[in-house]
Amino acid sequence: MLQGLGRWLRAAGYDTLIASKGAPDRELLSLAHKEQRLFLTRDRLLSENNAFSEIVVVLQANDLPGCLEELSGLFELDWLKAPFSRCLLCNQPLVMIADEQHLLTQDLVPDDVCSSGQAVLYCSACRKAYWEGSHVRRMRARLEAFNQGEWQ
Ligand SMILES: [Zn+2]
Repeated sequence: MLQGLGRWLRAAGYDTLIASKGAPDRELLSLAHKEQRLFLTRDRLLSENNAFSEIVVVLQANDLPGCLEELSGLFELDWLKAPFSRCLLCNQPLVMIADEQHLLTQDLVPDDVCSSGQAVLYCSACRKAYWEGSHVRRMRARLEAFNQGEWQ
């Protein structure tokens, strides 16, 4: 569930690492501390008895809308901070692909998107391409709704 929250934070443009399953809490906390990150968790125990408790944010909500609302209550989040500026899969900042470079990514981008001349963003880490298709438009509409306090 927090993975879903993490992907929405990335969609909004926040620099968000998502822990892989089974990664030891101690290492994750140490990394978060080193990189000056907040550590979002639903595990109350993590806020107690550890050296990094000041960066731990324990969320109580049991579903994604609840977590979105709770986090927005704790921090001044702008869900339209920089929409789709980061890769949803790996958090890497996206780069704009110029027209002439579309040729290099033709296997990633449908022909009609290429020929329409619309902006295509590209993740150099995992080679995913993003453009303003229906999926991105739907996500953008939800980010706008989050800023209005609508979480469903
Ligand atoms: Zn990526």
